[in-house]
Amino acid sequence: MKVLLIRPKPDPETIGLQHVMICEPLELEYIAGNIEDSGAEIEIIDMIVEKKPLEYFIQKHRPDFVGMSGYITHVNVIKDYARRIKRIQGDCRIIIGGVHAEVVPQDFLCDEIDFICEANGIKTFNEIIKGGGSKEIEGIYRPGKKNVKEMEFPYGFPARHKVAKYRHRYYYMFHNPCALIKTSFGCPYSCSFCFCKEVTDGKYFTRTIDSVIEELKGIPEPEIYIVDDDFLFSKERILEFCRKLKEHQIHKKFLVYGRADFICRHEEVIRTFQEHGLRAVIVGLESFKNEDLDRYNKRTSIADNEKAIGILKKYDVEVYGTLILDMDFSKEDFKSLYRWIKGLGLIFVNLQPLTPLKGTAIYQQYQKDFIIDPLEYEKWDLAHLVLKPQKMSVGRYYYEIIKLYYKITMRPQNIWKLIRKYGFMEVWKLSWGSSAVTRQYLQKMIRGR
Ligand code: SF4
Repeated sequence: MKVLLIRPKPDPETIGLQHVMICEPLELEYIAGNIEDSGAEIEIIDMIVEKKPLEYFIQKHRPDFVGMSGYITHVNVIKDYARRIKRIQGDCRIIIGGVHAEVVPQDFLCDEIDFICEANGIKTFNEIIKGGGSKEIEGIYRPGKKNVKEMEFPYGFPARHKVAKYRHRYYYMFHNPCALIKTSFGCPYSCSFCFCKEVTDGKYFTRTIDSVIEELKGIPEPEIYIVDDDFLFSKERILEFCRKLKEHQIHKKFLVYGRADFICRHEEVIRTFQEHGLRAVIVGLESFKNEDLDRYNKRTSIADNEKAIGILKKYDVEVYGTLILDMDFSKEDFKSLYRWIKGLGLIFVNLQPLTPLKGTAIYQQYQKDFIIDPLEYEKWDLAHLVLKPQKMSVGRYYYEIIKLYYKITMRPQNIWKLIRKYGFMEVWKLSWGSSAVTRQYLQKMIRGR
C-alpha cells in the first residue's frame, strides 16, 4: 500500500509568514512515524519547497491514500489538490486532517475528499487505512455526530527522516536551521479570539518531560521551536525540563510561546531557562490598552506586558510580540501604538487585524460585519482585513499597517542592532522576505480591499 502525505503550498493571495519562515510539517511526520501497517510505503511531499507540480508526484507514486493537512487558509488549496489528484487517479482515497479539520470539519466537505479527521488524527488515520474505506470509523467527521477527542498522546516520535531532503530549508526567521517539537496540547486559558484552544475543546494536557528529552536527543538541528500554544505555563515543568537538559547534556536554542503574566511573575524561571538555551519568546501582547485586553479575556494587563518585555530583554531573550489591531483604531491609535512599541524597544512585532476565525467564540458576534466572504478561505490569514474599519477606509487602514511595520523595522538603530547580532546576510534575507509581505500589503492598499 502506498501512502502519500502532502503539505500544501499557500495560495498566492495569502499574506503570510511563509516569506520569513518555513517550518517542518510535523503533523505529517507524526502520521508517517505512527503508521501501523508495517508494509505501507510512505512519502512526504512538501509543496512549499518542491518546484514540480502536484501531478508529477501523483503520477510518480500512484498512491492508494493521500493525506493532507492545513490551516483555514488552505481549505480551497486542499480541495483543488483533491480534485487534481482524483483526475489522475480516481480510486485514490483522500484523507484530510490538521487543526482546521478538527474544529470546522464541514469546511472540507466536497465530492473529492473521502475522509475528514475530526478527532485523534493519528489513530483515526490508521483506522481509515485498516478499514478499507468504511465511513463508520470513530474520529471521522459525519454531520450530526460529534467525535470525542482523547486527552492523551500515546504516540511514537515523528518520522523526521521522511523530510530529510527538505530539512535544510526549514527555518524560522533567524532560527536556522530549525526543528519543531510539540510537548503539550491545548491551552489552559480562554482568550475570546483564540482558535488554538478550540482544537482540544478547551482542554490542556502535556507529554512527560522524559519523552520530550528522548525526542530532542534524536534531533540534529541546533534550533528548536517548541510549538506548544503556551510552553511557559508550569514553573515546575520548565525547571524539570532545564534540569534534564543539563543531565543529558543537550545544548539547543529554544523558541517558545509564552504569556506575559507568567514571564513577569517568574523572572527566576526565565533566567534559568535562558541559561539552558531559551533564545526567543513569542508573546501574545495583543494590545497596548487594558480595556482591549479585558475584552479579549486575555487576563493580563499592560503592566504585565511591559514588565515581561523588560525581563526578556534583561536576559537577552528575543521578544516576538503579537498584537491585535482593533477595528476601532484611529490614526492616533496607530501613532500611540508606535510610540509604545518604540518606548519598549521592540523590534519584532506581528500586527494582526482582529479576525474572528470560524470556530472561535467571537465568530457569530462579528458575522454580520464581514467584508470578506467566509468561502475565500485564503484571505483569512490574520493579515487581511475581514472586518470594516470604523474610523477610516480599508485602503487607509492597510496604509497605516505598512507604515507602522516600516517605522519599527526600518529604525536605523534596530537595523544596526540586528546586523551586529545576526550578521548582514541573515538580516538581508529576512528583509527580503519582509518586503514580499509589504508588497502584498501595498496591493491591498491600492485595491482598497
Ligand atoms: S491566545 Fe494564547 S493564552 Fe490565550 S487561549 Fe490562545 S493559546 Fe491560550
